[in-house]
Amino acid sequence: MSDCIFCKIIAGEISTYKVYEDDDVLAFLDVTPVNPGHTLVVPKKHYNNLLDLPETEASKLISIIKKITPAVLAGVGADGFNLELNNGVVSGQVVNHVHWHIVPRLAGDGRELWHGRSYDEGEAEEVLKKIKSKI
Ligand code: AMP
Ligand code: ZN
Repeated sequence: MSDCIFCKIIAGEISTYKVYEDDDVLAFLDVTPVNPGHTLVVPKKHYNNLLDLPETEASKLISIIKKITPAVLAGVGADGFNLELNNGVVSGQVVNHVHWHIVPRLAGDGRELWHGRSYDEGEAEEVLKKIKSKI
């Protein structure tokens, strides 16, 4: 897609720090890392988000994530990682080319994800009923 920054990276029009590349997948360092080693993993073909991504591509991406993540963690001395995939503007997706974030986590790094809240009385049952009626 011509106005997509990740397509431009894949086409070599914008430089990046490549972590891994094959015919279908590119992994590169996020330019504004949450922690050092924060890596983005993308399909070379443009899809907007996870729901557009064919199963075969999704499974290839997961297999590459499983292959490279141990190296990313060992490389930066991380103890664990968050695997994040934002879908849609409301979720924080800024680049409209599906991408997984591998975010290395170190003990005491102080990063927080989000704050949850408890369901109100009867709310969980109501939500569940609505979701199940759509499946
Ligand atoms: P998201 O908010 O999930 O769409 O994440 C987009 C990510 O892309 C952000 O973490 C940005 O820092 C990252 N990003 C944007 N432009 C570049 C670039 N040219 N090279 C590497 N990472 C980028
Ligand atoms: Zn793209």
